[in-house]
Amino acid sequence: MNTISLTLSKSQQDLLHTLYHEYEVENNNAYIAHQYRPMDCVISLYTSGKAVFQGKSAEEYASAFQVTETTSFEEHAGSDEVGTGDFFGPICVCAAKVTKKDVSFLESLGVKDSKQITDEVILRIAPQIMERVPYALLILNNVKYNEVNPTNNMNEMKAKLHNQCYINLSKKTALPKKIVIDQFCEEKTYYRYLKDMPYVVGNIYFTPRAENQFLAVACGAIISRYAFLKSMEKMSETYHFSFPKGAGSAVDEAILKFVKEYGKEELRNVAKLNFKNIQKVGL
Ligand code: MG
Repeated sequence: MNTISLTLSKSQQDLLHTLYHEYEVENNNAYIAHQYRPMDCVISLYTSGKAVFQGKSAEEYASAFQVTETTSFEEHAGSDEVGTGDFFGPICVCAAKVTKKDVSFLESLGVKDSKQITDEVILRIAPQIMERVPYALLILNNVKYNEVNPTNNMNEMKAKLHNQCYINLSKKTALPKKIVIDQFCEEKTYYRYLKDMPYVVGNIYFTPRAENQFLAVACGAIISRYAFLKSMEKMSETYHFSFPKGAGSAVDEAILKFVKEYGKEELRNVAKLNFKNIQKVGL
């Protein structure tokens, strides 16, 4: 059995409790302040501040607390969007700001590679991120989408939503020097889409797959996905209908089923009507 002992600072002890309080168990040892039993590990926090990680996954759990000073970390804001490839449901865009003091917390939640995170984990960790970092979230519902779509292409909508997220974020916290967008179009095209906007947040660094490189973009991606999942959940409850994600053949089948039950007109409240799926099913 693996055993790892570490001495934790006060803030690390708090972090440990934040992360694992759901798994706390009673213990009779007067020297152990808290004991947690998440999957494949027993974590004992002693009154001295020493933490002992024991079990098959001891190393994984302990690694978040073996602090390697991240000297290269630069405070930044970042944003990403979800729902643009989904026929059903809204478009959600979120910008977040991450400072150095948030890094170990976010890394211990596994924020890094957001694309690999399951929906289940998104639902668990997003609320914790939302409590911790400043963010601005916008949800473009289907009614609004179908209203603005004839005059705005998808990237134009994205550009306007990202820009508005940063404007909203700037009202909550000072925008840092570095702002990163997970790139969806050329830089000059982005600013062209915004040319008639009263306020444009500039000096943005655009890069593809930014959610793997920048924690704030990863946070933006996770929070947007959380909002998207919650919106889909609400739609399912309202219509007692299971809306598939994406734009594949399961969606085509669902369109026909939905129209049969609720009529074609109702589609504009739950779907993006300019998607090719509509023609594909002959509507
Ligand atoms: Mg993206």
